[in-house]
Amino acid sequence: MKLHCLGTAGYHPNDTRQTTSFFISEANLLLDAGTGVFRLDKLIRDPELSILLSHAHLDHVVGLTYFLDLLGTTPLQRIHVYGEERKLKAIQEHLFHEAIFPVLPPLVWHPIDSEPGPWQVGQTSVTWFPLQHPGGSVGYRLQLPGVSLAYVTDTTSRHDSSYWSKIQGVDWLIHECNFRDEQQELAEKTGHSCISAVLENAYRNGIQRLIVMHMNPLEKGPDPIGLAAATARLGEKTPPYILLATDSTAIDLSSL
Ligand SMILES: [Zn+2]
Ligand SMILES: [Zn+2]
Repeated sequence: MKLHCLGTAGYHPNDTRQTTSFFISEANLLLDAGTGVFRLDKLIRDPELSILLSHAHLDHVVGLTYFLDLLGTTPLQRIHVYGEERKLKAIQEHLFHEAIFPVLPPLVWHPIDSEPGPWQVGQTSVTWFPLQHPGGSVGYRLQLPGVSLAYVTDTTSRHDSSYWSKIQGVDWLIHECNFRDEQQELAEKTGHSCISAVLENAYRNGIQRLIVMHMNPLEKGPDPIGLAAATARLGEKTPPYILLATDSTAIDLSSL
């Protein structure tokens, strides 16, 4: 069960990172549709694809307009898009307004509001939960064959955030971390997280495998969020396995 990191930046792409998008190939499932979506050209093997959207900010949805190319170069024929109804409507009315993007790909819209889950997408059992973020966002808990995973972006991580109760016991947590610890004020203002808060809260909640993503694109080095300094400071009070996601890499979720 592989997790392909198509895009690991927040806000906008830089030379090495596209914006947020992750593909679980065996489940035929895409988490968000940022600018990394074009990288699906080498990965799609099936005529149907399902997308779980956290919210409709552009760094998570602009890739929905890239599917016309993929329809021509892969077996893809139909795309199921799951998200909150208000966000799905905004995407249809604005992103796919004829003045902005005139040709509609074969998208099928699935509002999730009345169904917290679990519901099935193929062989995957899905539950969603709300996250605090300007305009709102949702996180997902997925039970895949043999492995569970939680996806949490965009939000400011707090020890008392309600989402922790929804993701107890997951095998993997994919969590946003846009900022270094010194940028706490900016993180609060924009509804994002700093690294030490993510590490400490994940540790307190028993997370064993943490993947951090949605990083500040202005930071171009190998450690854009100060992970090394934060883990050195926190010592053993961090999850035992922490991975800073990198574009165009794949993580084997079955290696527990
Ligand atoms: Zn974002
Ligand atoms: Zn956002």
